[in-house]
Amino acid sequence: MIILKIGGSILTKKDLAKPEVDYENLERIASEIEESLHSDDLNSDLSDGLIIVHGAGSFGHPPASKYKIGESFPIEDYPFKRLGFAEIQNQVKKLNSIICDSLIKHNIPVVSMPPSSFVTTVDKRIYEFRLGLIKKYIKEGYVPVLYGDIVLDEELKMAIISGDQILQYIAKILKSDNIILGTDVNGVYTKNPKNHKDSKLISVLTNLNQIEELESTTNIDVTGGMVGKVKELLELANLGIDSEIINANTPKTIANALQSKPVIGTKLTSKL
Ligand code: ADP
Repeated sequence: MIILKIGGSILTKKDLAKPEVDYENLERIASEIEESLHSDDLNSDLSDGLIIVHGAGSFGHPPASKYKIGESFPIEDYPFKRLGFAEIQNQVKKLNSIICDSLIKHNIPVVSMPPSSFVTTVDKRIYEFRLGLIKKYIKEGYVPVLYGDIVLDEELKMAIISGDQILQYIAKILKSDNIILGTDVNGVYTKNPKNHKDSKLISVLTNLNQIEELESTTNIDVTGGMVGKVKELLELANLGIDSEIINANTPKTIANALQSKPVIGTKLTSKL
């Protein structure tokens, strides 16, 4: 089985304060997934099923910081916070609906699974997660689509869970060993490649210390950017589950990765 995560930086204009879909990328990626699912030399990983996880990008981050989700608050603020929850949940659902429209047009039998309807957290980490239904959908040949969402938190009342945390959780439970993350850079670099010309791509990452400068991200990001991603994936690597970060802005990269063809990127593993 393959778990494909597509970053909010790819599917939305992530730097914008207002939500905007990157339709060009969405259309291209949907057709790359379609092509891979119907490829003649279908590798066994893809024929065992596909789960898609996507980020919230500019649909989730601006309202999440406006309502300061993730911070504790006095009880009298709860009515305001609840409305914030509603607004965020609705916004990311809209993005998911646009993404699913495109995937369906490309003949991919998606089923949208909003995490806010079956996931809870404790201090921002996944606590409850009903995975049984996802497994059933996969068995019946569907492609479940999950996404970064706002959920009930046992301590903070509400929390944002990133697509990266969702991917980590599913991979761990399903023991999936083919995990692909598409983002807007070629992989993990020694420093943020958008700000440092002397940064170098790390082709195999086994340890956080290989990254010289830890910056969260160039985008305003409440869920951790590249560092957050790497931490989730190294946790998987320590359990023996490898993953790869690739550039979903480069045409054919997702198609090639889905078909187990070599691509430029960073492999996260504990095996040297
Ligand atoms: P996504 O929305 O695709 O999940 P993010 O925007 O959260 O991805 O993270 C990707 C961004 O992280 C890149 O655009 C890059 O600018 C930034 N970044 C920060 N540090 C690094 C690094 N060491 N290597 C690669 N990218 C980095």
